[in-house]
Amino acid sequence: MRATLLYGAGDVRVEEVPDPVIRQPSDALVRVLRSCICGSDLWPYEAHNGRPVRIGHEFLGVVEEVGADVAGLRRGDVVVAPFMYADNTCEFCAEGLHTSCRGGGMWGAGDVDGGQGEAVRVPQAQGTLVRLPVGEDAALLPSLLTLADVFPTGHHAAVTAGVGPRTTVVVVGDGAVGLSAVLAARRLGAERIVLLGRHKDRTDLGVEFGATDVVAERGAEAVARVKELTGGRGAHAVLECVGLGEAMDTALRVTRAGGTISRVGAPQYQQVSFGGPAFMKNLTLTGGVAPVRAYIEDLLPDVLEGRVNPGRVFDLTLPLAEAPAGYAAMASRTALKVLLHP
Ligand SMILES: [Zn+2]
Repeated sequence: MRATLLYGAGDVRVEEVPDPVIRQPSDALVRVLRSCICGSDLWPYEAHNGRPVRIGHEFLGVVEEVGADVAGLRRGDVVVAPFMYADNTCEFCAEGLHTSCRGGGMWGAGDVDGGQGEAVRVPQAQGTLVRLPVGEDAALLPSLLTLADVFPTGHHAAVTAGVGPRTTVVVVGDGAVGLSAVLAARRLGAERIVLLGRHKDRTDLGVEFGATDVVAERGAEAVARVKELTGGRGAHAVLECVGLGEAMDTALRVTRAGGTISRVGAPQYQQVSFGGPAFMKNLTLTGGVAPVRAYIEDLLPDVLEGRVNPGRVFDLTLPLAEAPAGYAAMASRTALKVLLHP
């Protein structure tokens, strides 16, 4: 089969790799219907150095074969996988922290397949895969694919920041996760959602997703504008969806006294300035890697019934063979998020 490999900085190739086979009785084989490129794939894309590695962690597909210990799934089921696999039974999974699963791990790590390929061997298949009541050609596939990562990641930011009907929310970042966080905050009832982003086509989609205000300024000017919009107080809930130090710094400065910052952008910084000013404002810092598996069942009905349409974040669809062009388009910011099909 063919799969995407990262060779080095800016060097992605689609090549023949061995067909996956069942190795453990808890495995399943999934033929990929749709996969996609994540903003977080761009960090290794821009910096990888070393031997070629399989890449991709967002996919949905059709179950082709299940191991002897896999119950509840059968050949032909359409399923989505969260961006990390998990057994869904250990003490961490029981707490909804599937990203810390004792039996879990990352796609594309070691001998585990990446998601951007024609098929994937899924470890811990019973705990990992969520069956979708749709056919292989459903129009909803793009929105269902966002359940692998960006929509539940945005939801995780909103949930951990305590977003609800009386919350003023600031979302930092107009990438697919930031826009998903807007959608999630709106879904949880937030009436005031200020989106910080400078790409107008993206913030326009953010407005359709529920943002009430857009701040295109950056740094001190962005902080001043948010203060202006919030009566000088700042926001109760600030969802940091970028992962850069500058975004976290802005997040800290636009949070209201007593407010919460949730970070879900993969951090490209080593330290957070959480000293005197954060202390004096009684700020809470939360968030982290999103335990997507914990949220899929909650979010699925709204996607299936069309109350939300998170798949609108995909603005470029390419065949798998053109994955390298997809990476280039996302790295140059000409595409927001790229959908891949076989
Ligand atoms: Zn677990």
